[in-house]
Amino acid sequence: MILTSASAAALDAADPVAAAREHFILPPGVIYLDGNSLGALPRATPARLADVAVQEWGEGLIGSWNAADWIGAPARIGAKIAPLIGANPREVIAADSTSVNLFKLIAGALAMRPDRRVVLSEPGNFPTDLYMIEGLARMGLAELRLAPEEIAASIDEQVAVVVLSHVHYKTGAVHDMAAITAAAQAKGAMVLWDLSHSAGAIPVMLNVCNADLAVGCGYKYLCGGPGAPAFAYVAERHIAAFANPLSGWMGHAAPFAFADGYAPAPGIERLLCGTPAILGLAALEVGVETIAAIGITALDAKRAALTEAFAQSVLVLGAGHGLERVGPRDPAQRGSQIAFRHSEAWAINRALIARGVIGDFRAPDILRFGFAPAYVGYGNALIAAQTLAEILATKAWDCVEFRERLPVT
Ligand SMILES: *Cc1c(COP(=O)(O)O)cnc(C)c1O
Repeated sequence: MILTSASAAALDAADPVAAAREHFILPPGVIYLDGNSLGALPRATPARLADVAVQEWGEGLIGSWNAADWIGAPARIGAKIAPLIGANPREVIAADSTSVNLFKLIAGALAMRPDRRVVLSEPGNFPTDLYMIEGLARMGLAELRLAPEEIAASIDEQVAVVVLSHVHYKTGAVHDMAAITAAAQAKGAMVLWDLSHSAGAIPVMLNVCNADLAVGCGYKYLCGGPGAPAFAYVAERHIAAFANPLSGWMGHAAPFAFADGYAPAPGIERLLCGTPAILGLAALEVGVETIAAIGITALDAKRAALTEAFAQSVLVLGAGHGLERVGPRDPAQRGSQIAFRHSEAWAINRALIARGVIGDFRAPDILRFGFAPAYVGYGNALIAAQTLAEILATKAWDCVEFRERLPVT
């Protein structure tokens, strides 16, 4: 289906999620297709942050750890993330960054498989996932193996834990969580799913898939703000045996007993390390509530239709200029993004941004467009496709200004 002004307007008018756009603040004239990198600002967040700073911190001072339940924030917010990822509320905690949570969970999994050392991942996985495994290998705790092609076929009795992104950050391809989890468990291995590009974008069913471990990002589709705390999931059946290698006092069974010896909290709180970042958690809580209130089923249905409409429109409107579609054609097989390859992807993306269409560039040659369905509509998708087509047809990207490289892409 190719979008036209008429069909885009009709689709927006019939869109059950369209009203959710009002729950976000976006600058006028901007079409924001980077919610998979930094989610938009929920309208309720600035006032909530001001309240936490001025009232809870400024007035309540240290008493707010109890009075405002700051101390309960990581588990409380984890419980709110849980339904979005098919977990039970006792299995998820908001804490640290995704990278740090990867360290904790991979090291914890290795300790649960003491006769195995291999951590299996795939080439082209998100860099931090691979780098964290490399770090564990340098500490002598792990051996990194990259699956040559088929993941399930590469799992053998040496593998302690399989670490995969559920949705691939560049191509948007989705791994079959149930099948890979079952294949790993059949060989006695655990699986750690990185849900950074899944949580808040597509339904995830950790419990149904019998998943062992998961981590994910708070600042992408969950709209928690730049550098928001991430989350970690440990299946309830593993929690009692799970040892957090970063055994900080906040993960202790009784932090305020100030005992010399470490004893882990009985529940998911054992995943904590140090004092939680309350301001960041406050923003994350608003983001999670905002997305959860819209409903992941409705968001997923719109995601599938919207990404498909955009991809088809680009392929027709922008035909003949060297764009190559990347990633799964079947909406059920991908996340909430569309990617194209082009040798001039960097400059094209700069030209798009200059025209108010904010997608991103992923090295070496990928144009990536995230469609956060909570605040992107069909009219936006049409303008983005038309703008891209215009830039390609006129070669507007071909100038010094747009070729200049910037540090953050
Ligand atoms: C965004 C992302 C991360 C981010 O990790 P941080 O520690 O928050 O910087 C990790 N893994 C994947 C797959 C991601 O997409």
